Order: sequence, then structure tokens, then C-alpha cells
Amino acid sequence: MRQALVMGNWKLNATKASVEALINGLVDAAKDNATVEVAVCPPAVFIPQVEALTADTAITYGAQDCDVNTSGAFTGENSAVMLKEFGCKYTLVGHSERRVIHGESSEVVADKFAVAQENGLVPVLCIGETLEQFEAGETKAVVEAQLQAVVTKSGITSLNNAVIAYEPVWAIGTGKTATPEIAQEIHAHIRSWLAEQDAAVANKVQILYGGSVKGANSAELFGQADIDGGLVGGASLDAVEFSKVIAGASA
Ligand code: PEP
Repeated sequence: MRQALVMGNWKLNATKASVEALINGLVDAAKDNATVEVAVCPPAVFIPQVEALTADTAITYGAQDCDVNTSGAFTGENSAVMLKEFGCKYTLVGHSERRVIHGESSEVVADKFAVAQENGLVPVLCIGETLEQFEAGETKAVVEAQLQAVVTKSGITSLNNAVIAYEPVWAIGTGKTATPEIAQEIHAHIRSWLAEQDAAVANKVQILYGGSVKGANSAELFGQADIDGGLVGGASLDAVEFSKVIAGASA
């Protein structure tokens, strides 16, 4: 039985005041839905504040990205070592905004996945197809290639200590959600692709869905057999709405 995980990705949004209000507003949701792990991924500069605010709560947290290097002349980056020192459990790797806007290839994402794991973080590997790829019927081939890059670099068993987030790019921040049936079909495909290589890994790994998840659709999405929770952008910025999303995972 896989534990449900609902993770908020705040992207480039937060102030000191909003972080305090948001974390304090999520404490009850994390307590009331004890079967669900609630995590947040703030912009890196707010991680120390989140570390302090979550100290006596069940809320876990992570970063939105980490560099492939652990130290040195890499201006503007944050390393897995630093994130670990500030108590991060997770780091996202390969979010579509990193792949598309920052030009990160699947090989770079695989390097980030490896360095995160080597330094004690649980990588949340984001995969998913663009609208063009979806319309061309290429979804399964795209996610397989994105997974293959990590398997080639780190081996199939590396996914024993990782989370996968399937996020169709056309559903991120657009208000268009994949139907529960479409999402389940791809999640099941990912799991069976993994099972061909290692059945135990496939059975164990949490596969989150991401793409315009909100309170109104979370229970139906998270109720699918192979959807183990969600990676949530916009709806994670409001404590009331995010609490509804979280409740959808414990239904
Ligand atoms: C995301 O940023 O990973 C995401 C899924 O965003 P949204 O929920 O806003 O679509």
C-alpha cells in the first residue's frame, strides 16, 4: 500500500507573510488527514522560514530544483548538499518549466536526480508530454524516454527512493486537467513499463499526478488505482483550497 503524497509547488510565488499564513493554514489539514503526507516546495530563499515554521508539524518540504554540482563557481544555483542542510526531504527535478524555459534535457535531469539522491534528498522526477506530443499520440513514448534517461544513469532500483510526478504540460497552469481516465491510463502505463524491469520497484514507487489539480477534482483523480497523490501548483498557494486538495487524497 503506497502512502498518498500531496505536494505544493509554489514556483516563483511567496512573501514572508504569505509563507507564514500558508504553513500555519496547512497545519490542521496535515493533522486531520494523517494518512496523507503533505509537502511544500517553496522558492529556495524561503526554505529556512519553512524549516522553522514546520518544525513541530507533520508537513515536509523540498526544493523546486537543484544543481548538478554540489559546490563551486556556479552562480545562482543551489546544491543538494545545501538543501539537505536546511532540512529538505525532497527536490523536484525536471519540472516542465525547467525543461522548456531553461532548456534542461532528460540527461541533465537524470544528473540532477542522481546528485540529489547521492546527497540524501528524495528526487521527485517530473515527466510529461507537450500538447503537440499529446495530439500526435506520443505521450507514452515521451514519458518512457524521460524515465529511461534516469534508469540509464542510476539504474531501475534508484526509483525505490524517488517519486515520479506525471504532469501533462498542456494541463499545467492552464485550467485543463487530464480526465481521471486519461491520467490513470498513463499512470498505469508508467507502472507497467517499470514492472517490465523490476516489479517490486513498480509496486513501491509513488506516482503523483500534476496539472490544474484543485479541490473540486482531487478526490476523483487521487481515487484512481495508480495515482498516489498530486503535485499541485496554483491551488497550493491558498491554504483553504490546498486543504481541500489534501482531503481528496484521504477520501
Ligand atoms: C505544477 O506546477 O507542477 C502544476 C501542476 O501547476 P498547476 O497545478 O498550477 O497546473
